[in-house]
Amino acid sequence: MYTNFAPNPATTVPDEIRDQRRRLENSRNYISTNHTVEVPAGRYQGVGGAVIEADLQVKFSQRRKQGSITEQEDVVALAAIARCAGHGCAEGEHQVPSTDPVLLSADADDASTAALVPLAAVRKWAQEHAETCRALPYTGH
Ligand SMILES: [Zn+2]
Repeated sequence: MYTNFAPNPATTVPDEIRDQRRRLENSRNYISTNHTVEVPAGRYQGVGGAVIEADLQVKFSQRRKQGSITEQEDVVALAAIARCAGHGCAEGEHQVPSTDPVLLSADADDASTAALVPLAAVRKWAQEHAETCRALPYTGH
């Protein structure tokens, strides 16, 4: 069961990438070049009542510049993760592998297209999990 409207990755992913670019330009020394931003991509409810959340992951990192020993370049890759909050759920987490990293300086709008693959994969898993997961909602005790 699909329970709410998820943000459109066509706008949220490029926005995150532009934000990171801006932050790096403004204060390179204070900003983590390696971090992951999670963007909600869907929320589902299992047949037992547990909530399953799907998130797109925008993964910022650095890699060594080709042909250089010392220079690094900023890259971004897209992945996704689904987490089931069911009490005692046997397969509570599903990680969708990252896309190939691309340069952070490349056109951010392309990222929305790249996001479609992990997005589709994570939503498919979350939906299938919701249809089969009999775990009860976690109540804190
Ligand atoms: Zn579950």
